[in-house]
Amino acid sequence: MARKKAGGRVTEKLPKILEGENDPILRHRTFEVKEFGKDISDLISVMFKKLKHSKGVGLAANQIGRSESVFVYHWGKDRGYFINPRIEKLSVGEIVEMEGCLSLPHLGDQLVSRPNRVTISGLTKYGSSTTVRAEGMLARIFIHEMEHLEGGLYIDQL
Ligand SMILES: [Zn+2]
Repeated sequence: MARKKAGGRVTEKLPKILEGENDPILRHRTFEVKEFGKDISDLISVMFKKLKHSKGVGLAANQIGRSESVFVYHWGKDRGYFINPRIEKLSVGEIVEMEGCLSLPHLGDQLVSRPNRVTISGLTKYGSSTTVRAEGMLARIFIHEMEHLEGGLYIDQL
């Protein structure tokens, strides 16, 4: 008979976050999602868990080694995700703010100039369309994650 470990709780194994400015997966453009089933909804759920675990505000699928065009975000009361996101509108006005990346922890936070407002459209896990207009920090998160999905990193903007 197996002995029960005190407080033995099964912790789910979460994927690792890829790191480094030259990682080939981080530097590769992600692919459009074409099937809306369990795989994509599982991916989104793992990404939310990983985001929380890393205490991050945004996470793109290629940061955990996946190739789907998906990102999740959680900033204050704003929490959500996009599948196949597209930038519909960017403000002309830019703001310089500190910004960091879970994949570049060695660089810490850097000042990055970004548009102050963005409108993003994408799909839900059921395949229906969704559009979110963001400004300030949320806009910055969206633009940062969009950049990841294109194989970019915020250091490219410095
Ligand atoms: Zn990042």
